Amino acid sequence: MLAKLPSLTKLIKVLQHVPYLASKNVYRVATHFLEMDTERLRQFCQALEHAKESITLCTTCYFWQEKDAACAVCSDARRNHAVICVVETWQELVTIEKTGGYDGVYHVLGGVISPLEGVGPENLTIDPLIARVDTQVHEVILATNQTPEGEATAAFIASKLKHTSAVISCLARGIPVGSSLEFMDRVTVYKALSERRPF
Ligand SMILES: [Zn+2]
Repeated sequence: MLAKLPSLTKLIKVLQHVPYLASKNVYRVATHFLEMDTERLRQFCQALEHAKESITLCTTCYFWQEKDAACAVCSDARRNHAVICVVETWQELVTIEKTGGYDGVYHVLGGVISPLEGVGPENLTIDPLIARVDTQVHEVILATNQTPEGEATAAFIASKLKHTSAVISCLARGIPVGSSLEFMDRVTVYKALSERRPF
C-alpha cells in the first residue's frame, strides 16, 4: 500500500536510519513532521543544517565547539586545567556541568570499549587522552558509567596512565550500577563527583 506513496515511504526509510529512534515511534515522528507548520519545518531543517555546518569537535577535549570560536571549556582560564574529567559522551559532560560543582576540564571518549560491538580503544579518544596527561595534570577523574563496559574502559585507561604522576580517581558509588549519568538527578551526580574515590 505504501508503494503508492513513494514520498512517505522515502521519509519513513530516512527516519528508520536514525539511531535511538525506536521503530514503533517512526510513524509518530513522521506524522509530527508532516503536520508541522511549513515555516516551523523550514526552521527545523535550517537549524539542523546550520549546526552541522558550524559545529566541530574540539581537538583537545572532543566536546563540540563552534568552528569560528575556541572551545568554551578548554579556552576558559577560570577552569582548573590540572584536573581532567573523563566521560563517555558529551551528554555526560553536560550533566556534570549542570551540577555546578566541577571547575576542571573534560575529555570525551566517544563511547566505551565494547568488543561485542566492535569498539576497541583505537575507536575512542584514549590515545589523545594519554598524550594530554603531562606533568601539569594533577588528577584524572574517570567518570565512565558503572556498567561492565564503562568499568573495563576505566581500568584500561588507568593502566595506560600508571606511569604518570597524576592521581587517578573515579566516581563514588552512589550512582546505581547499570545506569547512565545522563539520566541522573543533579544531586546524585554532584555527590558522586564530590565523593570520588581513588581508582
Ligand atoms: Zn575543548
